[in-house]
Amino acid sequence: MAKFKAIIIGGGPVGMYLAHALQATGIDYVLCERRDAIPPPTAFGIFLWPHGLRLLHQIGLIDQTEAISSLLTSITHVGPTGDVVREYSDFSFLQLGHGYPVRMFDRASLAQMLYDNLREPGAHIKTNRQLVDIKRRAGGVTAHFADGTREDGSIVIGADGVWSTVRDFMRRDSPEGLFDANPYLSGYRAVFGRSPLPPPTPRQGSTTSSANSLPPLQPEKQFEYHRDGAKLQFFTSKREVHYIIYLKKKEQQSEQERKAGGFDLTIDDADAAVAPWLDTPIAANLTFGDLWRTRAAAGGASLDEGSVRQWHWGRMVLVGDAAHKVLPNQGMGANGGFESAASLVNQLTALLRHEANPNAAELRQAFAAYQAERQGVMVAFQRMARDELDGWTRAGGPSLDALRAADVLMSPMVARAVRLDAVPFPEERVGFSPWVYKVPAEAARAAGGGPKL
Ligand SMILES: Cc1cc2nc3c(=O)[nH]c(=O)nc-3n(C[C@H](O)[C@H](O)[C@H](O)COP(=O)(O)OP(=O)(O)OC[C@H]3O[C@@H](n4cnc5c(N)ncnc54)[C@H](O)[C@@H]3O)c2cc1C
Repeated sequence: MAKFKAIIIGGGPVGMYLAHALQATGIDYVLCERRDAIPPPTAFGIFLWPHGLRLLHQIGLIDQTEAISSLLTSITHVGPTGDVVREYSDFSFLQLGHGYPVRMFDRASLAQMLYDNLREPGAHIKTNRQLVDIKRRAGGVTAHFADGTREDGSIVIGADGVWSTVRDFMRRDSPEGLFDANPYLSGYRAVFGRSPLPPPTPRQGSTTSSANSLPPLQPEKQFEYHRDGAKLQFFTSKREVHYIIYLKKKEQQSEQERKAGGFDLTIDDADAAVAPWLDTPIAANLTFGDLWRTRAAAGGASLDEGSVRQWHWGRMVLVGDAAHKVLPNQGMGANGGFESAASLVNQLTALLRHEANPNAAELRQAFAAYQAERQGVMVAFQRMARDELDGWTRAGGPSLDALRAADVLMSPMVARAVRLDAVPFPEERVGFSPWVYKVPAEAARAAGGGPKL
């Protein structure tokens, strides 16, 4: 019988971390991505929180991670009247608390690092492979691609994002009603982009360069501007400033409604959407318009939220944005996706230890345990992100106490994060808020049971 093999669909950040997690635990895999390259043509950066960095550390990538990313050191919040309403100038508390800081990446560098550090990436990562069908066969599945090629494997893992094709096949193969036709809703849309640092010199005669009391735009500092129904978020890496303009919709839209209206904002729409914000001062002598004019890349999208009701069917299972979607304002989407990938791999390694070629019922048990561990956590993160964004864009100005309280709630969630059970991690960093998650053998020993060493 063929060796157990996972077919990953999607080479986004979660699919690529999953490839590492499978490699680290000795599970064979192939990853198929529809784009022609793994590094994406990106328009915005990505933050990784302490628990996301810890997972990269566990697979041996902390030095490379630190080399390609920047620290987040401060956030300045400016309210609707133009006054600074809150200033965080010390993010070292996260490193003190959890042993790791918050770091910002440009997506292409993160993807390239993940690709370059795989063993034999050319043999395992296949680009220009758009999934078009999944067929069952005895003891496994066959994934079919638009170019006529196919891959045989034991399971298919859909890491194929919000509009997951794997999820469509799960819905096709399962009883009607088990999978929602519209798993996600969208209450916000966003325009995002990036411009080079140092910032441009304001144009002559530009109203945008008006004097204000804001500090200059500096590397590694985040700036947020809050208005009724809108939030402008700017974060600087060493070389660029990235921005996201969140715009609250009048009503939540379902997937079908968004499909009817187009998936993304076109760049013309983006120009119109940002027009009211071009004169917004975002740093000393600098407005958003100054940056927008010099953008290196930009895009727009409806921002989805929600959790798919069922994360698995047969030999198919979902991970990352395909299973759970949070708003990006707290930067938890990919972090949560990494954790879900680790949780799924933990279930698979535990199963494969006892059964080299598990049957569908055994896989169902493992997938259900994975969903049970992760779904509630991701729903909590989803609600926290939504509450935070609603709080900052509230009519009448942000509710600062509620937002402060929400921040305090985040750290215990981070401390509970999953890691890979089967990968030794003696160099794990710990802060004053120790990691709560224990691999099953540790947990059994802590409870007085399990193998005595
Ligand atoms: C503006 C913005 C800012 C964000 N900032 C952060 C942040 O700071 N921190 C954070 O943790 N998260 C952030 N997020 C969320 C984060 O981007 C997502 O959670 C993350 O990209 C999900 O990764 P994924 O691999 O699951 O899916 P995706 O990144 O969507 O990747 C899916 C991949 O699957 C491929 N694919 C799709 N269909 C097929 C098919 N049929 N066949 C083959 N391949 C296919 C796609 O081409 C793609 O490469 C942000 C999101 C947005 C929109």
